[in-house]
Amino acid sequence: MSRTKGKYHVLTFGCQMNHSDSERLASALENYGFQNTDTLEEAELVIFNTCSIKQKAEDKVLGHMKKVTKMKARNSKVKLGITGCMTRITSSAKSRTKDELFKQIPDLDICFPIKDLPKIGSLLKDIDPDFADLEQEEADLGNYFKIAPKYKTPFQAYLPIMTGCDKFCTYCIVPYSRGRETSRPIDEIYQEALKIVDNGGLEITLLGQNVNSYGLSWADKKSDKFTYDSPPFVQLLKKLDTIEGLKRLRFTSPHPQDMCNKVVDAIADLESLMPYIHLPLQSGSDYILKKMNRNYDSKKFMEIVHYIRSRMPNCAISTDIIVGFCGETEEHFQETYDLFKEVCFDLAFISQYSTRKGTVAGLLKKDDVPAEVKKQRWHRLNDLLRETSLIKNKYFEGKTVQVLFERKSRKAGILKGRTEYGKEVILEGPETLIGQIVPVKIAESQEWRLLGELVT
Ligand code: SF4
Repeated sequence: MSRTKGKYHVLTFGCQMNHSDSERLASALENYGFQNTDTLEEAELVIFNTCSIKQKAEDKVLGHMKKVTKMKARNSKVKLGITGCMTRITSSAKSRTKDELFKQIPDLDICFPIKDLPKIGSLLKDIDPDFADLEQEEADLGNYFKIAPKYKTPFQAYLPIMTGCDKFCTYCIVPYSRGRETSRPIDEIYQEALKIVDNGGLEITLLGQNVNSYGLSWADKKSDKFTYDSPPFVQLLKKLDTIEGLKRLRFTSPHPQDMCNKVVDAIADLESLMPYIHLPLQSGSDYILKKMNRNYDSKKFMEIVHYIRSRMPNCAISTDIIVGFCGETEEHFQETYDLFKEVCFDLAFISQYSTRKGTVAGLLKKDDVPAEVKKQRWHRLNDLLRETSLIKNKYFEGKTVQVLFERKSRKAGILKGRTEYGKEVILEGPETLIGQIVPVKIAESQEWRLLGELVT
């Protein structure tokens, strides 16, 4: 551990993967002697962990950076760094070859794709000789995945099992921002999971862009990390299920193309696996799915849903949908609407398509659905979601479920937690329940949550 370096503040945007990366980033910075502050204005090192899934997400990051520009004008010691999906080239303001972002953000000091987190010491030293000692310590940090994260809560943890993506959906920047797909060895993940549980972890969520293609990428197959007598993802789930004390195992997100019955069987048969699957549909139109390069059709998606329901009739299923993708007609949208209704999703993240620079769709396809039509389709689907979600939640009325309490609500005396099915439950109860799994009777169901009572 080096001498005290001052305070840092990390702003995280985007998906759980980024939130998990920020836990590793926080750990690396603290290892270097920085101390966390939750107040941006107190920090001397501010790092943005960015999302670039949409142009809007990037604009949001750039908007937030203006605050740091003002801080730098007041205090020359303040340093600004950026990591995550917006970055391409590991560089500092002093580097000869720099990331394009330095042109866009003149106040930027350091920039690094997250896989280069172990290089943060030399980047900081580049811009300030006061940080010279950090470069010497860098070698100890090792590979990015070897950095032990600083978990936000002791009882819940995200655990990345892979990085990158080989799918190249035409609207998505991830394969370019995170690079090609590679998976961590099963034993490395198992050891990290053991540590989490030893430190009081009850629930682990495995993270990856396509968790069920774990171990199946070209790079993985070239290595000798995996055997292929059963899908590597199933082997991983089975191994993690043996950890005593691990009460809840979840994962996000699987890809329909790689969703085989053996994965569904594992969820149904293994005790720690929770009955909830997030399965991104994106569109119910085979024409649009093809344009998106999703590599499955509506028939394959429904086959998966039917198999899930045959093994676990009440398994919760959520999804992602993009409305208004290039060329989406009213008929294509109606196909999405009908399929959505047929599946009766528990939850959905519905977004309106917008062009993303650097993607195939951004380059080759015309964003030709008018904004007003996208909005209308979004509302229609969202109204349908209210209906399907309520139908699914009604099932739980009067039943007793197991709830892991996560936090206090803003309302005094109210707690929030989640059931095995991933449903949010709120109830009146003592704060001492946070971090515990307790039985709760569901008194009432609403569209987005369940209201419960403690079982005495
Ligand atoms: S599967 Fe498609 S949408 Fe998901 S990360 Fe990969 S390219 Fe992006």
